[in-house]
Amino acid sequence: MASPALGQADCPPDLSQARIARNGRPRLAVSCLPVLPPCPTMSLAIVRSRALIGLSAPEVQVEVHVGRGLPAFHIVGLPEAAVRESRERVRAALVHRGFDFPNRRLTVNLAPADLPKDSGRFDLPIAIGVLAASGQLPSEPLAELELVGELSLTGELRPIRGGLPMAVAVSAAGRRLVLPAQSASEAAVFPEVNALAANHLGEVCLHLLGQSPLARVEHRLPAAAVWTGSDFSDVRGQLQARRMLEIAAAGGHSALMVGPPGAGKSMLATRIASILPPLSSAESLEVASVHALAASFNPSHWGRRPVRAPHHSASAAALVGGGAGPRPGEISLAHHGVLFLDELAEFSRPVLEALREPLETGRITLARANRSIDLPARFQLVAAMNPCSCGHLGDPRCRCSIEQVVRYQRRVSGPLIDRLDLLLTVQRLGEHDLLERTPVESSESIRARVEAAWARQHQRQGDANARLDAQGVARHCGLGPESHALIVAASQRLRWSARGVHRALRVARTIADLAGSAGIGREHLAEAIAYRRSPLDPGSNGP
Ligand SMILES: [Zn+2]
Repeated sequence: MASPALGQADCPPDLSQARIARNGRPRLAVSCLPVLPPCPTMSLAIVRSRALIGLSAPEVQVEVHVGRGLPAFHIVGLPEAAVRESRERVRAALVHRGFDFPNRRLTVNLAPADLPKDSGRFDLPIAIGVLAASGQLPSEPLAELELVGELSLTGELRPIRGGLPMAVAVSAAGRRLVLPAQSASEAAVFPEVNALAANHLGEVCLHLLGQSPLARVEHRLPAAAVWTGSDFSDVRGQLQARRMLEIAAAGGHSALMVGPPGAGKSMLATRIASILPPLSSAESLEVASVHALAASFNPSHWGRRPVRAPHHSASAAALVGGGAGPRPGEISLAHHGVLFLDELAEFSRPVLEALREPLETGRITLARANRSIDLPARFQLVAAMNPCSCGHLGDPRCRCSIEQVVRYQRRVSGPLIDRLDLLLTVQRLGEHDLLERTPVESSESIRARVEAAWARQHQRQGDANARLDAQGVARHCGLGPESHALIVAASQRLRWSARGVHRALRVARTIADLAGSAGIGREHLAEAIAYRRSPLDPGSNGP
């Protein structure tokens, strides 16, 4: 260590005595202390970094003060456990890289203090701050930089979450981000990226010393992902369910299939991934930002709509988001894509209730002790469930009583069903269907129709039909007199609210778009109405 304990060798002897005086063991009366110049080795360095609050990355100033006093290392400014542990990583990494760890009183202040700081991404700015404050690195080059990165005990930089939202925020602030090389690929998808990638602490130090500049992160988009998974051509029969999923994919509609086990509900639903329209570049960037926040960014999924299928035992926090940070849940990871919930009735009631708000608004607000955090969650819900707990309702095998059936179906509340656009009862396949040898349409050919319908609605209104608001419905879903009479009759017979009528009209708009029709015809509306009868309503054609 270059600096002896307590810094006595570097400071004038009077100052050393003054310190002892303030520690409460006076050798001199405080009133007769001389006014002394600041000790040249006492220093302050300021390094900029970023916190992560949802998708926003507010600036954090890491102020490092090396002062006199008993050797200590304090971090203040609302740090969470992972940041407090930063002390040990920073100390080990600096020593391992051959730097002096100042044997003095180190105070690190993360400002502003009211911003919660989680994760080890402050390791790098703290380490660089310690080096700058103790005169081992120049502090001038730090003015135009912002640093993030977790350190290993040997000084390697570990990847961080949220590299993309931070790259966006730092670029807007007109500065340059230094981040771990393993997080560079997600920052690179941002067109105006201004960042440098480093593998270990030593590289950052050499850059600041002007000896070896860090590699620039160049803007680069990953190749658009091509679907190579399961295909609709593997599924026999179930023409109506296939058609419903095509409509769902084409208009971004949410859908529910009710049917016995073995009817192929999950097999059909998971194949919706193969016919979804590609993401636009703006949507791709949003999806990548949310996944970067969850540390699940994968360049090989670029441009493809995410499909998430959480298990029914998932907690409300896993589904809507939570924990430290907080982390995005499944509904945010399914942003601009599909959330598939198999065995819908088996999900806990709080989980299902938590879906209602985001289904309507496309966002989720997570309340935290001192702030609320907004995350995007514009997902399309595709769900499947059995009609009763044994699954064989309507079949002699079913032993469920009426009360049991009602109780089972009521697990999925009416308000949730009311928020779904497409509802369908799926029957088990007969032997005839299984032996059917006529070729089945492939996902590729269905996707061509879906993409054409998608392009049509985006050209017309700039958004998916499922997202049309009341004015949009009035504007783009006009009906002829015959169709008008049809929807009035249907809404009276099926006891629809105004919301139900709008849902039928949006679906009819998508069916017309799939047919390449400028207006909604009677046949389009009739098909849409058929998908609005609840399979769980005893008065409908359901089980
Ligand atoms: Zn049953």
